[in-house]
Formats: sequence, C-alpha cells, structure tokens
Amino acid sequence: MSEHDLILPRIGKVPGADAALHHPPADGRLPDADRKADFPGLRTAAGGPWHYLDTAATAQKPQGVIDAVTRAMGADYATVHRGVYTRSAEMTLGYEAARRRVAQFIGGREDEVVFTRGATEAINLAAYSYPRKGRVLLSALEHHSNIVPWQLAGWQVDVCPLTPDGRIDLDAAERMLTRDHAMVAFAHVSNVLGSVLDARRAADLAHGVGAVLLLDGCQAVPRLPVDVAALDCDFYAFSGHKLYGPTGIGALWGRAALLDAMPPWQGGGAMIERVTFERTSYAPPPQRFEAGTPAIVEAIGLAAACDYVAAIGPAAIHAHEARLVAATREGLRAMNDVRLFGPEDSAGIVSFALDGIHPHDLGTILDEEDVAIRAGHHCAQPLMDRLGVPATARASFGLYSDQDDVAALIRGIERTRRIFG
Ligand code: PMP
Repeated sequence: MSEHDLILPRIGKVPGADAALHHPPADGRLPDADRKADFPGLRTAAGGPWHYLDTAATAQKPQGVIDAVTRAMGADYATVHRGVYTRSAEMTLGYEAARRRVAQFIGGREDEVVFTRGATEAINLAAYSYPRKGRVLLSALEHHSNIVPWQLAGWQVDVCPLTPDGRIDLDAAERMLTRDHAMVAFAHVSNVLGSVLDARRAADLAHGVGAVLLLDGCQAVPRLPVDVAALDCDFYAFSGHKLYGPTGIGALWGRAALLDAMPPWQGGGAMIERVTFERTSYAPPPQRFEAGTPAIVEAIGLAAACDYVAAIGPAAIHAHEARLVAATREGLRAMNDVRLFGPEDSAGIVSFALDGIHPHDLGTILDEEDVAIRAGHHCAQPLMDRLGVPATARASFGLYSDQDDVAALIRGIERTRRIFG
C-alpha cells in the first residue's frame, strides 16, 4: 500500500467544503459598499476607510476565507494523507476537495493541479523539472519570478520586446521563435502595466515551433475569467494570496502528459511510492511534486477564495476594475505633469510617474491620507530599464475597490503636487 492509500473510517464532513455558504455573495453584482463589508482588512486602525490600492501586491481577505482558515486551523485541524483516524481522513478529503475546487476555477483537471507555495515556486518547479531544457522566450515586462528561475535552472533566455503601449509584442515573438525554443513563458497580465496578453495567439506561436507555453497568471486569475483549456496554454502558475486567499499557497497547473514526464524536483515524504536505500520510486503527479506535509489550511482557504470570487464572477470583476482604471487614468491625465504607463485597457492596474516627485515620496504622502499605493520597481527591474525610470507609482484595484478610492487617490496626488510646488 502506498503512502496515499487511505483508510477512511467514519467520514463525516469535508473541511472547507461549506466555506462559501457562510458569506453567500450576490451573483454577478458588485455593490461596492457591501463588498467592502466582507473585508475586515479594509479599515484603518482608527476604524475609518482605508483606501487600499495595492491589491496587485496582495489582496485583502473576505471574512468567508478567514472563517474557512480558522476552522481548518482549529476544530477541523489534522494532517493529511497519513492518518488512520477520522479527523485526518476528513482533512485529506478537504485538501483534495480544495485541489478539485482550484482546478475547476481555472478549467483544469484536478490531477493537473500541483499545490505550491505560490507563483514563484510554481515557476521554479517548471523551470527545474521540465525535461527539455533549452531556450526560453520571456518578455521585457516579466516579474523577477518569471526571469530568475529560468536563469538559475540553466535555460538560455531570449527577451521579447514590448509594443509602444506596453504589451508583449507577439509579432516580434513570431519573428524570434525558432525550433530551439522549448518554452515560452509570459505574464498573462503584467503586474506593472496591467496589459493583457493575447494568450491564445501566444500558445499558437509557441506550439508552431514545438515549444510549450507557461503563463504567469498571478495578476490574471483575480481579474479575468481564466480557462486553461480555452487559452490552450501548457502550464499556468498563480498565487493564492492575490486571489483573495491565504499566503503560502498557489498552484502550477500543467497538462497531464507534461507533468507525467517531469521528474520530481524536491524529495521527501508524500511524493514517493516506495523508498529503499537502493532505489526509490515516485508517486504520480500531482503528489510527485508535493514533498512534505502540504499547506493544508492554506489550500482550504484558497478553495474558499475561489468560491467567493466565482460567485461574483470574474467577468463582472473585470468590468468593475475596468471602470476604476478608466476613472483613474482620466483623473491622472487631467494633470499635465503625469506620465502614464501601459495600455488604456489595462486590467485593474495603473502605473504612473509625476514629474519631479519620487514615487516613494508620493506613497508616503498618500499614506497620510489613508491611501495605500505601491512605489518602486515592482520586481520588474528590466521593465523599469526599458521605461527609463527607476520606479513607478502603481495603483491596483480589487473587487472591493470603488470610486471613493479613486477620488481619494486623485485628491492625495493633487495635495502632493501642491506640497512639491
Ligand atoms: N508574477 C507576477 C506577475 C506577480 O505579480 C507576482 C507577485 N507580485 C509574482 C509573479 C510572484 O508571486 P508570489 O510572490 O506570490 O510567488
């Protein structure tokens, strides 16, 4: 019997399976005030509104996710995959139900979802374990998490340029790709510019030269409907904490045949079939890539987050964030000393720079107004080099953001400009 075979005594409930029932959101609607009420993190220490515009860094958590995590860590808590007692067997069902939920959320099969610590670990796993190492085509807008793992794992990196409005230039990709390329790895949505990739065309281009396509979906899963089958990608990486779930959990989705051909990249418990000192055999995917006790509680929290987001609907979230992006860009354009980056139709993210005001100074002054933005290189230093700036200011929205947040941002920027004369 392998480590994964379970004895299932007296199974009662599946932890996390009812998480969404505690905070049933209204389907397809985004009444902003109601949404904010679901998120205890959206208030200042004094109890006032906190204009949180750093959702691209990490999203605030709805109470339903917090409740699911609390139950999984408390009354339901036990290990998975090993216990012969009821609680552990139930927890195993809960953990595997979470995998099923995540798979369903992105249109994949559950045996194709590997739980990781986040997108970073997911991309590292692909970079290290994909057996046909060679050239990888990245783009100039990638997050360091989609650059450094390829360098470390010994790939030869080529860089696809951007269009003038800040999209990955797929015409250039078409010219650059050769039969030597084994992998194309692009951000589905840029964390700096918000530009949305034409993923379907990227998949066609990659497949046309016999390469596979990995999408870094960190910023896409919280903002767009994502269906890996429709996208026709081969790997999809994302982080739970940007999808309104906990930190410490994320996923690499991969086509079954590809995962099957990949050797393990970390060894330990739970990823084996049989261990002797002479020879060890490995479990099939996804367990092959999940060495050690997994992030049980976090996986259940992520499943609750999928429930919450799915009930609102990613398409409704995308449309909502598009309205906020349009209002922000309009407000910024009215100031003639602002440089706006990225395309008009960016998904939920606006990067900009003010003449003569460092983004860090802007961020500090906005903080006094209870407006939180991100200022810096956003873990995309090669992109900053191409934009010709050391840093940008970035406002990023979530499903709970509203026009009051946009108004507070614009007010705060105007005050900053007055301070700097
Ligand atoms: N890719 C993109 C596009 C991101 O925005 C981020 C997080 N900023 C990452 C990768 C890395 O995600 P994590 O730190 O959660 O692993």
